[in-house]
Amino acid sequence: MARTTDAPAEKNAEPTHPIAIGVLALQGDYEAHARAFLNAGARTTLVRKPEELEGIDGLVLPGGESTTMLKFLEKKGFFEVLGKFVAATPCFATCAGCILVAREVLHPRQRSLGILDATIERNAYGRQNDSAILTLPTEIPGGPLEMVFIRAPRISCVGPGVRVLALRDGFPTLVRQGHLLAATFHPEMTSDTRVQQLFLEMVRRHKARGQQRA
Ligand code: GLN
Repeated sequence: MARTTDAPAEKNAEPTHPIAIGVLALQGDYEAHARAFLNAGARTTLVRKPEELEGIDGLVLPGGESTTMLKFLEKKGFFEVLGKFVAATPCFATCAGCILVAREVLHPRQRSLGILDATIERNAYGRQNDSAILTLPTEIPGGPLEMVFIRAPRISCVGPGVRVLALRDGFPTLVRQGHLLAATFHPEMTSDTRVQQLFLEMVRRHKARGQQRA
């Protein structure tokens, strides 16, 4: 079929700044993230093996089940490779992904990459009443943000280098630490792309700094 000039693929190609966003696709809602980043104007690729991190400018660690993701990551040294990658490259971690990057995981304790200076409690809002859609204030310009919480963890404390961009009942739901952005909710499940745009801007800046150094 002939492509028309306004085909969506043209809009998403971003020919002047081709940013490659990888989405860790071991388990969870990685497809929704890939779609959201396509809609936000990035190129996206699914990452299932350590070598697929090659050439990626920014990585998404999706929501899902962190224990299951850990099981996959513990095969063939992926956990260690991912830890080094996330320490050096922009990463957007949501929900289970946020649990994976935290310094300390509670309820129950589990292994984590230890990159986000935060303590996080899994399933902190209980099992019965554990999903909610709330519209809450955020420091991201543009007014309150719709946040979808699904068996969400709670960030119970953060270190001094962590900037809090939104709160739920006094606990951080969206935080930034240098090149790391982390949310306890699911930005990929709403049509608002402000969180994705913020991450893309972080990736662009990180990439531009790398090119200046090269
Ligand atoms: N409860 C999940 C966990 O502990 C996280 C839930 C989610 O990612 N929506 O890993």
